[in-house]
Amino acid sequence: MQNREIFEAACAKFKQCYGRDPVIVAYAPGRVEVIGNHTDYNEGLVLSAAINNGTFFAVAPATGTTCRLTAGDLMHEVRFEVGAPEPVRTDTWANYCMGVLAGLLQRGKFAHGFDALFFGNIPLGSGLSSSAALEISTALALARLYNIKADPLSLARIGQQAEHKFAGVKCGLLDQISSLFGRAGMLVQTDFRSLEVGHAPLGSDAVLLICNTHAKHALVDGEYNQRRADCEAAAEFFRQRLPHPVTALRDVSWAEWEEHHSGLDDRIARRAAHPIGENERVAKGAELLAKGDLEGFGRVMFLSHESSQRYFENSCEELDHVVETARGVAGVLGARLSGGGFGGSVVVLVRAADAEAAAGALAAGYAARYGKPCDVLVIHPSDGASIVKEP
Ligand code: ADP
Ligand code: MG
Repeated sequence: MQNREIFEAACAKFKQCYGRDPVIVAYAPGRVEVIGNHTDYNEGLVLSAAINNGTFFAVAPATGTTCRLTAGDLMHEVRFEVGAPEPVRTDTWANYCMGVLAGLLQRGKFAHGFDALFFGNIPLGSGLSSSAALEISTALALARLYNIKADPLSLARIGQQAEHKFAGVKCGLLDQISSLFGRAGMLVQTDFRSLEVGHAPLGSDAVLLICNTHAKHALVDGEYNQRRADCEAAAEFFRQRLPHPVTALRDVSWAEWEEHHSGLDDRIARRAAHPIGENERVAKGAELLAKGDLEGFGRVMFLSHESSQRYFENSCEELDHVVETARGVAGVLGARLSGGGFGGSVVVLVRAADAEAAAGALAAGYAARYGKPCDVLVIHPSDGASIVKEP
């Protein structure tokens, strides 16, 4: 089992709170986006990984209809009735679990409440999606408790709806899918048009580093919406121009962009170039991994970052600094910004034997420039969510 000591701590805390053992425990990991930047809402491809940190959700049925839910790190409890979960304004961590309960309630009637406790080791709010890990561990455990049959994509959607309706975050499905479909030594390949999920082998010779700069640049939300609007406008232009159907930038090839982009407003042309090129890079990257070409895959990661800098302009000085430093670090094969951009994290592909030294070099390089190190975590692509204890 992954993270056995966290599992044991979760069970011990459960017993401390409720005076008995949990009957069901589910585990769900966080995730990292490896390549496929701003491709999801353009109906394209993403390669991600489930990480080796995660959250355990431990539960036992109650006799009445009241639910008791405890956050294991705070050892703080909230109570609510099983039939009527509503978003709360204090103890907002409970929203992720109550949102999932609300989604499951659409598939059945629950006669009794539960006692539950969750505990994990994902840094919160660091872009590793502790929120999806909480939703998915909750969904697996409660679906088992109430005998709800739901396939993994349905559970992913229940997690996403919890995030939309109870946490107020309009996320896509990448986080939940990565948490559910992760496999040790593999990247998860998701097609955001068909929601088909496959895997690409990374093997055990390379691992990932996630370097969190904690940089957050102003106007981020406005910039994000502007990028989405520009992609829409570009898709509309190509819809008029191209002889084949275009419903999203996914349908436009790099060759078509090169042939037609001079007809577009310069800014919109550059914005469109990023997801169009990126989608081809993800497909190419998966092919390279299938052939075991880690160096080739790393080069594609660097190209992704250059496209962010040149076309999408969603990088920033801190992220560029980490990527440039990474180019000179022994064992590093590739590096790029991960997630929305304008701050946040860089993901680095590095030979496993060099991972610890590279993590130290990147943190030190950052400290030399900015006065404090970036947080660097070594990540082993890992198995996805599962039930780890059941009756
Ligand atoms: P991220 O998903 O990148 O970690 P979010 O802001 O989306 O960041 O989600 C973080 C929030 O999820 C926390 O503020 C907290 O409310 C909730 N959460 C997730 N996991 C835990 C946990 N193990 N303990 C307490 N709260 C958690
Ligand atoms: Mg989140």
